[in-house]
Amino acid sequence: GVTDGDEVAKAQQAAPGGAAPTIFSRILDRSLPADILYEDQQCLAFRDVAPQAPVHFLVIPKKPIPRISQAEEEDQQKFCSLINEETAKAEGLGDGYRLVINDGKLGAQSVYHLHIHVLGGRQLQWPPG
Ligand code: 5GP
Repeated sequence: GVTDGDEVAKAQQAAPGGAAPTIFSRILDRSLPADILYEDQQCLAFRDVAPQAPVHFLVIPKKPIPRISQAEEEDQQKFCSLINEETAKAEGLGDGYRLVINDGKLGAQSVYHLHIHVLGGRQLQWPPG
């Protein structure tokens, strides 16, 4: 599986630039398969390919906003609705879960299409690495 080290290494190499299409664009246009849990006009939720908890899925805006720190105010409002409570409940996360947004190199972001990690299904520990 993908280790933490691999993920940080990928984040070091990922281009924080901007408009380049990412792997998530291919999930959105269905040219790359993913286990999709939820979809509406604004967002898509699908399981992370390298889960870090029994439940680990990603929620992304369809608009290819590269990273949270570059989202415009209007986008940030829409993005709040991406934290999808319905999907969390359907995944058995009624007793709690964690939302994570990695931003940029030091935040260990590796894919520059804004996404929320939703993690749960076990007792999570704190702090993260
Ligand atoms: P980041 O480090 O950018 O916050 O997280 C990117 C996440 O995307 C990682 O957890 C990684 O496992 C996941 N990921 C990368 N490529 C793919 C893929 O092709 N399919 C799916 N489902 N997840 C991916």
